[in-house]
Amino acid sequence: MNREALHKISYGIYILATEFEGKANGQIVDSVFQVTAEPPTVAVSVNKLNLTCEYLLKTEKFSLSILEKNTPMTLIGRFGFKSGRALNKFEGIKLKKGITGMPIVLDNTIAYLEAEVISRLEVGTHIILVGKVVEAELLNNLEPMTYAYYHDVKKGQSPKTAPTYIKEEEEQLDKYVCKVCGYVYDPVAGDPDDGVVAGTKFADIPESWVCPVCGASKDQFEKQ
Ligand code: FE
Repeated sequence: MNREALHKISYGIYILATEFEGKANGQIVDSVFQVTAEPPTVAVSVNKLNLTCEYLLKTEKFSLSILEKNTPMTLIGRFGFKSGRALNKFEGIKLKKGITGMPIVLDNTIAYLEAEVISRLEVGTHIILVGKVVEAELLNNLEPMTYAYYHDVKKGQSPKTAPTYIKEEEEQLDKYVCKVCGYVYDPVAGDPDDGVVAGTKFADIPESWVCPVCGASKDQFEKQ
């Protein structure tokens, strides 16, 4: 079996948010799809270990914020690689309360939905929740981020067929991987969102720089 075939399935990048008894949490999800048109329903797959899932199974309501293509890695990192058990992910985030009472993340959001859970299916490590959409709003006309864009462009990972010039300049163009979240720093791309221009060697990045995805310090990186 070639699992790479699975990587050819397309996904988006969303923030799933929910609240139970005054405790709110949210997380990045990529597996979201519309199931039926009438009434409109959507499915989302969530890891059972996540705090968001715990709240969601109790409250049975959620919001989904559809993120724009240029969403900074810091927002994705905060909701995708950190646990709400350790920090309040919503601090400093632009939010609104939906008609379901669920929090809705507005930062870098192009559209959002609110849904009430009508069905669930356990699949090993995950639960697929199907929600009836009770509210939906379009906020702007920006392009949505796809998982492929996030993975290939934002994460700075290059195809395996790397150009040969990288080999010739190996010393300068080594990639470094974050041991915490798997983010790859590619000197060819740099980290322009955080002021590191393209072409900056890992060694030349200021010590104050942190992983744009999970916030780990520079010493948490190792040569790929
Ligand atoms: Fe990281």
